[in-house]
Amino acid sequence: EFSPSKILKSLPTQFFATLVSKVEKVKAEGHDVINLGQGNPDQPTPPHIVKALQEAAEKPVNHKYSPFRGFPYLKEAIADFYKREFGVSVDPNKEVAVLFGGKAGLVEIPQCILDPGDVVLVPDPGYPDYWSGIALAQANMKMMPLKEENRFLPDFNALSPDVSEKAKLMFLNYPNNPTGATANVEFFHDTVTFAKQHNICVVHDFAYGAIGFEGKKPVSFLQAEGAKDVGIEIYTLSKTYNMAGWRVAFAIGNRSVIEHINLIQDHLYVSLFGAVQEAACAALLQSQDCVDKLVRMYESRRNTFINGLQEIGWDVDAPQGSFFAWLKVPYGYTSESFADLLLTKAHVAVAPGIGFGNNGEGFVRVGLLTSEERLKEAVERISKLELFSS
Ligand code: PLP
Repeated sequence: EFSPSKILKSLPTQFFATLVSKVEKVKAEGHDVINLGQGNPDQPTPPHIVKALQEAAEKPVNHKYSPFRGFPYLKEAIADFYKREFGVSVDPNKEVAVLFGGKAGLVEIPQCILDPGDVVLVPDPGYPDYWSGIALAQANMKMMPLKEENRFLPDFNALSPDVSEKAKLMFLNYPNNPTGATANVEFFHDTVTFAKQHNICVVHDFAYGAIGFEGKKPVSFLQAEGAKDVGIEIYTLSKTYNMAGWRVAFAIGNRSVIEHINLIQDHLYVSLFGAVQEAACAALLQSQDCVDKLVRMYESRRNTFINGLQEIGWDVDAPQGSFFAWLKVPYGYTSESFADLLLTKAHVAVAPGIGFGNNGEGFVRVGLLTSEERLKEAVERISKLELFSS
């Protein structure tokens, strides 16, 4: 038997794996679990995108290795998409890198620009995959608390000057997983100023870049003046077009970082299946009615769930974007004990906030990834729980 490398052993445990096994156990006992624990979109990919894949799969050109770094037509489509959606202009050859899903890109980036011991600023609570890339690069994380009183935005002034001075990289993510908070362009202006001051590379994870509520479209980091000087944005097709299984995303922005990503990928992969690249173009360039419909669906689910909880006396805020609700746990529970109670007594699975960092304690994350009927049923089950009284 071979033992794993020290680096592999240093990776954080994938806490979703623990969650899945807990859910499976309750299901195996014969219970009907409403699973709101994970972030897997429940809707199929729109048919016109699937059709584009089918047609492209017939073409022999797509049966060969596709060019390193992706077909030029895909990078042009990405540039056109950013211009159309966010008014941002980029050079498709130098400022776009095609990724095998956002997750791969997020894990690769620290390895592209950090040396062992370098400091990275990470949102807390935040998406755990940032930690994995940082561990693989043997770099050090410094947490940036996201506090409710700051609308879950980091307060750069509250970081110790020593930490800001040493930091080389910073992750941000709005609309935010897990809190559902959004950022405005002023916040991104402040981010650019802070990053320039301390020479920090910003990676803005824009996984929920299409999902904003009450008519407010999410803001791209690249809309802030000077953003391209200090960083990149990661955009995935997983959520916008329900293409999580297809593994297609891209990085866009600062050309030196894009070049480093391309370089590391030259060693790891050739490129995506050509038919997936053609289908990605169909998604980005054809009618966006499917996206409007999706956003309306999530907003309606959000309203049903949040209103339902408010009606049974819960003090909850509606998320402004993403497809997550971030709920304060009731008096007397930790995030984990409350998630366990919901799972075992109400058969509703949610993710304990502690899984997203120490500042996630006191909250649970609910994925609005099932029908309104099931969400109503979840509220109904929650209303019947016997909780400690405060
Ligand atoms: N970033 C955030 C915040 C996410 O929630 C997810 C998916 O859940 C991703 C990135 C990765 O998406 P993908 O790897 O499917 O592109």
